[in-house]
Amino acid sequence: MWCLRQAVYARAVELMDTLGRELVGRTLSEAGWSVRFDRSRRRLGACWPNTKVISLSGVFCDLASMSEVDEVIRHETAHAIDCELRGRTDHGPEWRRLAIACGAKPSRTADVSSRAMKGRYEIRCARCGQVTYLFAKPRRPSACSSCSEGDILCLMGVIDLSTGTVVAQPGVMLQYPGHG
Ligand SMILES: [Zn+2]
Ligand SMILES: [Zn+2]
Repeated sequence: MWCLRQAVYARAVELMDTLGRELVGRTLSEAGWSVRFDRSRRRLGACWPNTKVISLSGVFCDLASMSEVDEVIRHETAHAIDCELRGRTDHGPEWRRLAIACGAKPSRTADVSSRAMKGRYEIRCARCGQVTYLFAKPRRPSACSSCSEGDILCLMGVIDLSTGTVVAQPGVMLQYPGHG
């Protein structure tokens, strides 16, 4: 996980410096900008003009694809460059022009799947399709509340979204009376 964040960090600095040189005339590092990770699960990235920090959601970076992370870095870098050029930033026409120059979509919210923000583990019932997401790995298989009836437990399948591996197969289990 840490190696992945180092790769994201290196990519962010590289993009910020290249785009800074192109659009401001110096790297964003030279202009005093740095990259941090935060623990947000609501937004993918943020730009803090006063402290000159671009902040990326660590949770998102751990789960998203590199191209999704790239889009967020470019979006926030456009904000940082906007700050350098105008002393402030928003999602107005100046920022949109810079976003395009930075290779980001000129929209307020990055168009990346919000799947990664929901949780690392997808718990899905193979029968009815009921699905939930968890950040922590489930300790034991859970039964689908809508499919399980009487002595039959319909077990949900578990997929680790960060690797795509099946952690638990969905299945059906008979629960005998007296065994809980
Ligand atoms: Zn923005
Ligand atoms: Zn079900």
